[in-house]
Amino acid sequence: MLDTRLDQTLTAFLAGDRRAAARLITVVENGGQQAEAVLEALYPRLAGVHRLGITGPPGVGKSTLVDSLVRHHRGHDHRVGVVAVDPTSPFTGGAVLGDRVRMGDLTTDPGVFIRSMATRGSLGGLARTTKEVVDVLEAFGLDTLIIETVGVGQTEMDIASTADTTVVVLSPESGDSIQAMKAGLMEAADVLVVNKSDRPGAGQMVRTLEADLHMRPASDWMPPVVQSIASRGEGLDALTAAIASHQDHLSTSGDLERRRRRRVQNEILAVLRDRLWRRAETDLADHLPTWTDRVASGEATPYAAARQLMARLLEDDG
Ligand code: GDP
Repeated sequence: MLDTRLDQTLTAFLAGDRRAAARLITVVENGGQQAEAVLEALYPRLAGVHRLGITGPPGVGKSTLVDSLVRHHRGHDHRVGVVAVDPTSPFTGGAVLGDRVRMGDLTTDPGVFIRSMATRGSLGGLARTTKEVVDVLEAFGLDTLIIETVGVGQTEMDIASTADTTVVVLSPESGDSIQAMKAGLMEAADVLVVNKSDRPGAGQMVRTLEADLHMRPASDWMPPVVQSIASRGEGLDALTAAIASHQDHLSTSGDLERRRRRRVQNEILAVLRDRLWRRAETDLADHLPTWTDRVASGEATPYAAARQLMARLLEDDG
């Protein structure tokens, strides 16, 4: 159930109020029952808008590229939502906001909604929270959705995997780090971008990447490698064409349907896990110390304790 204030916020949100949107995102980020109530109310408004993930090592020009992409879409009159996540930085808010200052006029454009995600401790839930924040933006009626994240670890890959199309950005400068990250990043890539193509070595890098891609197990999608100079807004047409062609591939091959089904399944399980966990914390609070004593004194095993507690939880459900 939504409380009255949240209900008013939701009404304002549905009427297109940006501050209401920002507030609902905060509620969703904070999790818990209110978050669930908001997401449930918005769920029927999700129409399956294409989600674009942009990832890659730090410094390759992701923010600059996203900035150019947003401008490109604005040129086509699309309303754009960007969620920027930097889970590796303890200063996420500051760092990402710093980047966003560069977006200048875009931050005041009513057709653009940019949100930086704070890590808020639990890394494990970050991919899910990111997805939920994008859900809010989609329900807000934005028609282009971009998730930007630094690609250095599993969490970031999980975030990238909430996108329909994942663009991996590299630059001829990142040298060694590319080697290290190639394995994980390359597997996630639906489209590869060699940004900073004004720098030496860009052409060579494209050829190396293409050669690497040919070594991958055969699949019906070969990720295209495109070049860009994000700081000059160059290469955007090639990039958006590559993204569009992956989007076509997703629908014609049935992959879109499969990916989305898998995501729905994960979502159900995640909500279930949350609920069980909340229930366990409240309903079992009185019984846990007793079982802890029993296990500590050698009277029972942790497994027997868990079995008994589980039985109690299920019993309470009836
Ligand atoms: P991020 O960490 O991947 O988001 O990278 P940024 O977008 O913050 O860019 C890092 C630096 O590279 C900034 O100084 C950008 O101005 C610069 N940069 C971005 N794109 C290009 C490009 O195409 N060519 C060159 N020479 N510099 C670029």
